[in-house]
Amino acid sequence: MGKKITVAVPKGGVGKTTTAVNLAAAFAIAEKKTLLIDFDPSGACSVSLGFENEKLKGDIFQVISFIKHIDSVIHHTDLPMLDFIPCSINSAEVEERINRLTRNIHLFENILNQYALEHYDYIIIDCPPYLKGLTTVALAASDSVLIPIRAGQFSITALKKMYSHICLVRENLNKRLVVEGILLTMFEKNTKAWGLTQNAIYSNFGSDVLETIIPKSTTISEAEFYGKPTMLFNIKSPGSVAYLKLANELMNKNGQGS
Ligand code: ATP
Ligand code: MG
Repeated sequence: MGKKITVAVPKGGVGKTTTAVNLAAAFAIAEKKTLLIDFDPSGACSVSLGFENEKLKGDIFQVISFIKHIDSVIHHTDLPMLDFIPCSINSAEVEERINRLTRNIHLFENILNQYALEHYDYIIIDCPPYLKGLTTVALAASDSVLIPIRAGQFSITALKKMYSHICLVRENLNKRLVVEGILLTMFEKNTKAWGLTQNAIYSNFGSDVLETIIPKSTTISEAEFYGKPTMLFNIKSPGSVAYLKLANELMNKNGQGS
C-alpha cells in the first residue's frame, strides 16, 4: 500500500514545490513507484517538470469534479517510475472546483484510496502557502506531512501555525496524520540567520527535525529553469545528493530502506 505525504507549511517561498518535485524524483530514482500531485493552483510543479500548460491533458480538479477519471490525467515524466497529476489548466473554473472540494473534504482522499494508492509506493502532494482549503483537504487525505522551512524570523511562527493546524486536522478529520519531519531548506553554513533559526527550531521542535538538510544550491534553481528535477540536471550536485539522501532517510523511517 502506498504512503501519502503532503508537503505543506503556511509560508511562501520556503521550498515546498522544490522539495515535492525533487523528493518525488529521488523516490523514483530509488525505484519506488511515485505519483506527484500538484495541489497548488499556481501550477509550479508543471513548470519544474517541464510541462507546458497547453500540452496538459487534464488536472486534479477535473478528477474531483468527476469530469475526468484519474487515469486520464496521469502524465508520465522523464523518469519511468515518476507520474504526475497537474493542477488547474483552466483558471476560470478553479474557484468553483475548489469550493466543491472543500464542501466535501474526504472526496480527494476517497478518490486516491480507490484509484491510485495500490499503484504507487509514494504519493507526494504539493500544497499552496496557506492552510485552509486545499491544504486541509490534502492533510485530510494524507498519512504524513513534510514541512520544509528556510532561515528567517517568521519560520518559527509558521511552524507553530502548522502544528496547531495539524492538531485540528487530527482531531476533526484525520486521526492518523503524523509529522514526517521538518526539513531545513536553502541552508547556508555559518550565517547568523541560519544559526538563530536552527537554535529556535531545534529547541522548539527538536525531535521532528530531519537529519538531512538541503543546502542552498544554484543547481536546484537552474534545473527548475530547464524544467527538470535537479537529479536529471546534475546528479552529483549538492542539491541532488541532499534530496537523494532525504528519500533514503524517509524510506528508512518507513522501513523501505535500500
Ligand atoms: P510557494 O509558497 O510560492 O509555492 P514554495 O515554498 O513552493 O513557494 P519553491 O517554489 O520551491 O517554494 O522555492 C522558492 C524559490 O527558491 C524557487 O525559485 C526555487 O528555485 C528556489 N529554491 C528552492 N530550494 C532551493 C535551494 N535548495 N537552493 C537554491 N534555491 C532554491
Ligand atoms: Mg510552491
